[in-house]
Amino acid sequence: MDFKEHIRVIPDFPQEGISFKDITTLLQNGEAYKESIDELKKLVKELKIDVIAGPEARGFVVGAPLAYALGVGFIPIRKTGKLPYKTIQAEYALEYGKDVLAMHVDAITEGQNVLIADDLLATGGTIATCVDLIRQVGGNVVGAAFMIELQDLNGREKLPDVEVFTLTQYP
Ligand code: AMP
Repeated sequence: MDFKEHIRVIPDFPQEGISFKDITTLLQNGEAYKESIDELKKLVKELKIDVIAGPEARGFVVGAPLAYALGVGFIPIRKTGKLPYKTIQAEYALEYGKDVLAMHVDAITEGQNVLIADDLLATGGTIATCVDLIRQVGGNVVGAAFMIELQDLNGREKLPDVEVFTLTQYP
């Protein structure tokens, strides 16, 4: 399947110069959504995965069905203040200002093999922060899987020691 046929590209959203890759059109199509998760499952089939971690909100939409398909657990990584139990946190820079991501302190046990999942790899800042959180508690990041990669933003450079898997790429 050509996944690009199901991804809507919106120019200048949320601000001028950004070409927004809208996956809601893929998600609303049952066949395309199912095939995208099945394909991601194939891409990571050689990995030994104990759990999948995904950042809110679109990381849940990709990570949770992939976890179900693989028969492994799912760990939500959220904006600070959302998770009810004790958390560890990591800060990351946005274009303007900063943001903080949080994960439950007991979500991952030392030595567990963790695959990270998200909708799209852009600059890699979000996923590098997820890697930081997972390693803080002794998790072993075995890879990161995305529906979309924006190649010109060189997100892979921020993830030098992480194997990256992507379904479809844009310049
Ligand atoms: P980054 O930290 O730069 O890799 O970007 C992280 C998140 O921002 C991705 O998971 C997307 O959800 C969102 N994002 C960034 N750029 C785009 C884009 N051009 N189109 C759609 N989503 C984007």
